[in-house]
Amino acid sequence: MSRTAVVCGGSIGGLFAALLLRKRGWDVTIVERNATELSGRGAGIVTHDILNALIVEAGGTTDALGVAVADRVAFGRDGGEAARLPFPQVVTSWDRVHSMLRALMPEGAYRLGVPVRGYRQDDDGAEVICDDGRTFAADVVIGADGFRSAIRAQMHPAVQPVYSGYLVWRALAPEGELPADVLASTFPHFALYLPTGTQIIGYPIAGPGNDLRPGHRRYNFVWYLPADRAALADLLTDASGVRHDISIPPPLIRDDVVQAALATAERLLPPQFVAILARSERPFFTPIYDHLSPSFHDGRIALSGDAACVARPHVGMGVTKAACDAKALARHLDAAPVATALAAYSAERQPVARQVMELSRKLGTLMLTPGPDGPCTEGRGNPNAAFMIANTAVVPAA
Ligand SMILES: Cc1cc2nc3c(=O)[nH]c(=O)nc-3n(C[C@H](O)[C@H](O)[C@H](O)COP(=O)(O)OP(=O)(O)OC[C@H]3O[C@@H](n4cnc5c(N)ncnc54)[C@H](O)[C@@H]3O)c2cc1C
Repeated sequence: MSRTAVVCGGSIGGLFAALLLRKRGWDVTIVERNATELSGRGAGIVTHDILNALIVEAGGTTDALGVAVADRVAFGRDGGEAARLPFPQVVTSWDRVHSMLRALMPEGAYRLGVPVRGYRQDDDGAEVICDDGRTFAADVVIGADGFRSAIRAQMHPAVQPVYSGYLVWRALAPEGELPADVLASTFPHFALYLPTGTQIIGYPIAGPGNDLRPGHRRYNFVWYLPADRAALADLLTDASGVRHDISIPPPLIRDDVVQAALATAERLLPPQFVAILARSERPFFTPIYDHLSPSFHDGRIALSGDAACVARPHVGMGVTKAACDAKALARHLDAAPVATALAAYSAERQPVARQVMELSRKLGTLMLTPGPDGPCTEGRGNPNAAFMIANTAVVPAA
């Protein structure tokens, strides 16, 4: 008996869902809104053992997956080392994982330029409805269409992103352009700067084309900075005066906004991070939101990855959570009729997503919370630092 699925969204979550179902004999089509390949975009991601195992299970490889870091080093405002925790981890890039999984999908089963508007279903099957009126029918529909999911908007219209009160600036600096002292003190490490009110996370990743050769890699720069709603409204306004909702495409971020961020960096950050930022490609910011759907299913329709839940990025779990959702979906769909399977999937994964979201909120709150002796301005002696160093970009304990 053929079992068919349509997956809406061809990013990492959708690819994991499709590949793990195909391994179990399902006939799966991915429909992706973008008309051109997604590969070549994105920045750094951290990996976890469970993600590595699922890459292999999906048919990929963890050979040359990324750059191995041995420890986490927190720096003070003066640039010197403030704390160190041995913590071996492989850090990679979104593009490395996406392009590997993308190459595993057969021609014709990954359809570009198909924006989905919603879905219909009855006892016998389901279908997605596209903006141009086309439909794709299957036994099950998986909404892996990300943070602003059209599938979730129909399933749970009341679920809206919750603004955290801060945003993240991201940038990538070529290893070959970094000064020798920064290469020695900072580049090899998962680095942090942890005063009260702002935060830096940085780590080395592959260069363009997954180039892992020393001298050809890049440093991934992640910098959290508070912005109240009025400030955010201004930051989201482009040079032609158009105010963007939720987030702004990086090329439309105004030059004066970028220049102001660079000036703030000089005022607030340790010298090596100022130096990294000065040599980076044009930095861009993303406001930080989260959301959690009350359930991840409706009959024959499932939500997975960022469509189901976005946790703030402190936990570094976006890709891993999407992969684990995909694994659970495939396991349940293999074992029971669709509606029963999806109910079991939702019962398993929604509480896990809640736990991930709550830990990431806690890490975000600690970033902004002064200790009993007041704000930590120099990145040394922050009473919240030990918890943040040990729990950032870590899979929460069950
Ligand atoms: C281009 C890109 C670059 C990224 N870079 C990074 C990074 O560097 N670091 C990081 O931690 N995370 C990154 N992410 C996010 C990361 O992929 C997710 O947080 C996580 O992997 C969960 O993935 P997801 O597949 O559930 O959602 P997403 O990655 O958000 O993917 C959703 C997909 O659905 C598609 N889509 C949206 N709406 C529709 C629709 N109506 N019809 C059809 N398709 C639709 C989108 O185009 C996208 O491909 C990136 C995402 C994208 C799309």
